[in-house]
This record gives sequence, C-alpha cells and structure tokens, in this order.
Amino acid sequence: MMRDERLEIHSLARSVRSENEPFISGLQRQLTRTGSQASDPMTIDQFDTIVLGAGAMGSAAAYHLARDGQRVLLLEQFEIAHTRGSSHGESRIFRYAYPNAAYARLAIQTKPLWRALEADAGEQLLRDTGGLDLGEGRAGQVKVSAVAAALESIGGSWERLDCAALARRFPQWRVSEETIAVYSPDAGVLSATRCVQVMATRAAAHGATIHDRETARQILPDAGSVEIVTDKDRYRARRLVVTAGPWSRQLLRDVGLELPLRVSQEQTVYFRPRANPDAFVPGRFTIWIHHREPNVYGFPIVGAPGVKLGFHRDERYIDIADYTREPRPEVVARLQAYLEQYLPDVAGEAFDPTTCLYTNTPDDDFIVATVPDLPHIAIGVGFSGHGFKFAIGIGRALADLVEHGETEMEIDHLGVDRFRGVETA
Ligand SMILES: Cc1cc2nc3c(=O)[nH]c(=O)nc-3n(C[C@H](O)[C@H](O)[C@H](O)COP(=O)(O)OP(=O)(O)OC[C@H]3O[C@@H](n4cnc5c(N)ncnc54)[C@H](O)[C@@H]3O)c2cc1C
Repeated sequence: MMRDERLEIHSLARSVRSENEPFISGLQRQLTRTGSQASDPMTIDQFDTIVLGAGAMGSAAAYHLARDGQRVLLLEQFEIAHTRGSSHGESRIFRYAYPNAAYARLAIQTKPLWRALEADAGEQLLRDTGGLDLGEGRAGQVKVSAVAAALESIGGSWERLDCAALARRFPQWRVSEETIAVYSPDAGVLSATRCVQVMATRAAAHGATIHDRETARQILPDAGSVEIVTDKDRYRARRLVVTAGPWSRQLLRDVGLELPLRVSQEQTVYFRPRANPDAFVPGRFTIWIHHREPNVYGFPIVGAPGVKLGFHRDERYIDIADYTREPRPEVVARLQAYLEQYLPDVAGEAFDPTTCLYTNTPDDDFIVATVPDLPHIAIGVGFSGHGFKFAIGIGRALADLVEHGETEMEIDHLGVDRFRGVETA
C-alpha cells in the first residue's frame, strides 16, 4: 500500500472515531486490509515499526510510537483487551514502594506518563488510594525495611507504622504484634482493561494500524529490517517491538534468543465485606502488599462491590498451550482463610474468581532491551507479575530503544545480557 493511501485511510478512520465509534478499530482494519489485498493477496506492507502483541506493554509502545509520528502496525492474536493473557481486569496496583530503588525511580518516571495519557484520552485511569506494605516474620520485616530505605533514597514520602499505629490508623487490620508496616501515599489503582483499551484506541487515533485476531507465526529479521509472517499476511518494517507476554519465548527464538521465561497461572477473587463495607472504600482503605509466604496483595473497593485480592506467585507453572482459564476453588478457600485472620470484616461471599498469567524471569526483573546484534528489534517481556503499573513507561522505553537506541527511562537493571548462558528448562 502506498503511503498516501494509508494516510487517507487513517484520516477517514479518525473522523469516524471522533463521532464516538466503539473503540475497536474495525473500520480502520477493514479498510487497511481491503486496500492492501486489492493490490496483492500476499502483500508485503511497509511500516516503520511493527509491535507484536497488544497487551499492556504493546499497546503502550504502539501509543508512543504513533504519537511520535511513526507508521505503526500493532498485531494482536485475539481481540484487543481480551482476557486470555496478563493485562485484563478491573484493577492493578500502582506504587512507588519497592524494595529495589530502581523500580521506585521507574515508577516516579511513569506516573506523569499515565497522567498525560489521561489528559490525551479525557478520562481518569489511575486513582490515588495510598498503599501499605505489611511485613510479618523476619523475611517480611526485612522486605518492608528495604521498601522504606528505597523510598527514603528516592526522596519519596513514607511513614513507618508499628502494630499499635496501624491499629489506630487502619482498624480494619488484625495483625500480630511483630508486624511492621510502611504507608506510602504514592500508590493507587489502575483500571487495567480500560488502560489497554485506551492505549490502543489512542494509538489508532494517532495513526497506528491495528490488526487484531491475527497471529504472528514467524519473525524474519535481517540487518536493517524485519519481516513478520502472520496467519493472514506478511509485513515488512524497519523496526520491531516484541511484547508477546506468555507467548514470547517461542517467538524470540526467531531472533536468536532462548530466554528462561516460565509462565504461571495466577488468580484473583473478590470478597463482599460481611460487615462495615464503607470502611473498605478509597479514602479509608488502601491497596496493600503483605510480605509473607506467599505474598498477598489487595485493593480497596473499586470497580466491583468487593475487596479484590490474590496470592503473588502461587507456584502453579504451566505450558501456555494447556492454559484453560479455569479458576481453582482451593485458592478461593485459602484467600478466605487469609481474610478471616487479617481482615475479618471482608471475609464474606466470594465472587468473580479470575485467572491471569505471569511470565516470570528467574530474578523477577523484567527484560526491556534491544536484541544483541539486532538493535532495530526491542523486546519487553518477563514482567513477572508486577509490570502493569509501569506499562506506559515501558512503552516509552521500547519506543525510545527502537527510535534512538537509548532511553531516559530507568531500565539499566532490565537488560537481556544477564541471562546469557542461563539454563532454560
Ligand atoms: C492476577 C494478576 C495480577 C496482577 N497484578 C498486578 C498489579 O497489581 N500491579 C502490576 O503492576 N502488575 C500486576 N500484574 C502484572 C501485569 O498485569 C503484567 O505484568 C502485564 O499485564 C504484562 O503485560 P504484557 O503486555 O507483557 O502481557 P500480555 O497482557 O499477556 O500481552 C501479550 C499480548 O501478546 C499477544 N500475542 C502473543 N503472541 C502473539 C502472536 N504470535 N501474534 C499476535 N499477538 C500475540 C497476546 O495475545 C497478548 O495480548 C498482575 C498480573 C496478574 C496475572
């Protein structure tokens, strides 16, 4: 397809969307395909950058690339904002509070990018709630102390609460006397599915082409460009961003990477408070991370009439081909027991158990880097169950890497070289 033809299509799609077309860019997709297929059924299309995978990370990368004026193709095997990957649901935690100051700095860089996206989209996506890190047992206390030290090192706000102070400030909690807590005001809740929808919609509004329900089968890289073979077509671009989440490992073999990524099936559950529901709304209750074995995280009541919580990495590793999305009743029972102990007023009826996938690296740190010897290909994978809060910042970093070869985002600790020679299972 010629450049002028594409521009015409984009401006037509844009004018239709501005009259409140539903967010899936069906018309744009149809027009793009019709245009290309009219010239050749096996079209080799030309883009500046192809983004492979439209979860949180790929949608964010496509958004920034399109805003930067690039001709972008965003490929997604399912529909945009589907529920088979890692980025769906009502809520994800945003926080500065990390034991590793590099992530705290990345979160500080990322927050204004969420606010800028909100301004671009004209809607709120990140709601401030404040957050608690609770530490129980020796290991938990060490983690919470590390969170406090990291917040201190970046000049963040935080307060240390001992058991008595916690009981005064947040009487909803029943914790042991040995528990220590850190309160951070810089925490909140991102509307997860909505964020993905908004990033994809705004990417399209800024000119990106989105092909959903199209699966990339093969990456054919060469020195200065790349060709993607899908189940429907072939596309050529100068650059590639791979953000394929749990499906990344297989695809990345095409660019010479064998990464030690392991996929785990995780689960969240809502509980309807059986007493004092008003005590669990934002303003009175916060997001939390409970450092214990296994860690538990949770949310105040937002988006659904209950408190949502889950175990962080419940050690159920799977082959992505076997993923059924079937929730496990046993997890609901264990979370209910947790609530009976720590937040008894919440331990009412359980509803909406939902599965979701983590793509884990051996050290739990992400991989956000260019591919060795292929600087026009960047990868954003292995988000190990804590990536969403950074998505709009990771998208910025991936766009920078393929456009300029470097970024100001804090990603030095996220290189791919640290896995050179690491055994893969
Ligand atoms: C239960 C749960 C709770 C979480 N809570 C938090 C939290 O509170 N805070 C936080 O920061 N993070 C949290 N996370 C982690 C966060 O959600 C993930 O790190 C993030 O969503 C990962 O996004 P992604 O884009 O890498 O992956 P995905 O969302 O899986 O996206 C990858 C996309 O690539 C597509 N794709 C793959 N292969 C192909 C192909 N061949 N062709 C075309 N498309 C392809 C897939 O269909 C998919 O849409 C949580 C995760 C889970 C599961």
